Amino acid sequence: METIFTKIANGQIPSTKLYEDEKCFVIMDINPVKKGHSLVIAREPYPNMASCPDDVLTHMLLVAKKVEAKQREVLGNQGSNIIINNDPASGQEVPHIHIHVIPRFVNDGRKHFQDHDKYSDGEMQALGMKLSLN
Ligand code: 5GP
Repeated sequence: METIFTKIANGQIPSTKLYEDEKCFVIMDINPVKKGHSLVIAREPYPNMASCPDDVLTHMLLVAKKVEAKQREVLGNQGSNIIINNDPASGQEVPHIHIHVIPRFVNDGRKHFQDHDKYSDGEMQALGMKLSLN
């Protein structure tokens, strides 16, 4: 399956690449939430988290950690958003798993998850019993 990111990986579409290895590669996002916003992308086009092998997913997170540290060093950001949009219902536009690493600064004017649900009495605890992994 071909995606924008496989085309970037094989050089059909140009990108600013920050890192690559056998499991993933890192590019700068063309439409950054904040400048420096980067994407850690699986080399294989697994569409979502469930289809991504555990070793690839854990490796990508460790690479995201390094990207984040480099951003702090170079950009001086005090925080970051590390995000996977997982399937189209979440807003995922490119069906090829990637981790967003977004540098964040105190009072930088960006906000995620502006809207929130509210639980009725007891609803959170009841749902928690269904969602429990133990
Ligand atoms: P998603 O919504 O799938 O989680 O995020 C896809 C991201 O890929 C978006 O932030 C978007 O700006 C970025 N993107 C889409 N097309 C390109 C491209 O051709 N080059 C680069 N560098 N980023 C892209």
